[in-house]
Amino acid sequence: MALSEFELIDRYFRGCGAKRADVRLGVGDDAAILDCPAGAELVAAIDSLVDGVHFPHGSAPASVGHRALAVNLSDLAAMGARPAWALLALTLPAADESWLSEFAEGMAALARAHDVALVGGDTTSGPLCVTVQVLGHVPRAAALLRSGGEAGDALFVSGTPGDAAAGLAIEQGKFTFAGEAATYLRERFLYPAPRVALGERLRSYAAGCIDVSDGLLADAAKLAKASGCGVEIGYDEVPVSDALVSAVGEERARELALTGGDDYELCFSVRPAHVGRLLAELPPQRWGYRRIGSLRESPGADILRDGTVMSFSHSGYDHFMTPS
Ligand code: ADP
Ligand code: MG
Repeated sequence: MALSEFELIDRYFRGCGAKRADVRLGVGDDAAILDCPAGAELVAAIDSLVDGVHFPHGSAPASVGHRALAVNLSDLAAMGARPAWALLALTLPAADESWLSEFAEGMAALARAHDVALVGGDTTSGPLCVTVQVLGHVPRAAALLRSGGEAGDALFVSGTPGDAAAGLAIEQGKFTFAGEAATYLRERFLYPAPRVALGERLRSYAAGCIDVSDGLLADAAKLAKASGCGVEIGYDEVPVSDALVSAVGEERARELALTGGDDYELCFSVRPAHVGRLLAELPPQRWGYRRIGSLRESPGADILRDGTVMSFSHSGYDHFMTPS
């Protein structure tokens, strides 16, 4: 490596992200010292992105940096937590300076946008793998849990799921589509926007909450199961973007919205008594979410169309694998 490990950390990761007064000691010592607010609980999440597994080999370094942080911010958003600090364990095949500077800036830009400071990490040599841990806080006992739902709750999702799965397929060359809509879809995979502000606000309204990373249907089913109930989603209620519809048509757009992955939206349940207040105080148009169904007593997850149960046997990933 042309750069020493010390120089690399100093150049790209010291002072990365927001400056925060609660960082007593950041990058440089053996460990970071962080001042947690009184009355708060610490919320921690960690995720690894492996080259060629969680992002296509040769991905733009800024996107890798952005996504490594975004997936963790999304986990904190799903808990209703406010992110504050991040740690980065980076395994690199070589100290490529242009790769590193774009990677660091991709992560730093998202960190600054969410007032997150990078406070430490580890740097090793090996096949490219990026692990980020995010720490944040919530007022004591106020976190949103997957298990907080109850039969009868209204179910909502933010954003337009399915876009990222289509964007990934375009990135991988599995699906040929060009133009403005294609650019939008690719960006949705490369630079997902974690719903941190929505998650925090939802503490006052939601019962159960999960972030959508494995596909809306699968993640809604996880929320329902953790809550000891089942879920019904209205096929016609599933939000899809105009770009996705222009790319794959209405039917496949909804199928992808239900079964694609990498969306990093929030799926949450709200007690019927609180739905009116939610809609009035967090206007869906402004906050970008929509009612898609309900939690029910009987277990399982069903998609309802015109009163009948539909079945989905293919994942969004498979969908692009099979030539149509
Ligand atoms: P140690 O051998 O004590 O673990 P390191 O040389 O690994 O120390 O790290 C020195 C400092 O740099 C520590 O504060 C560590 O948290 C930080 N650090 C190392 N790698 C990274 C990285 N990729 N991003 C941010 N901070 C890092
Ligand atoms: Mg170390």
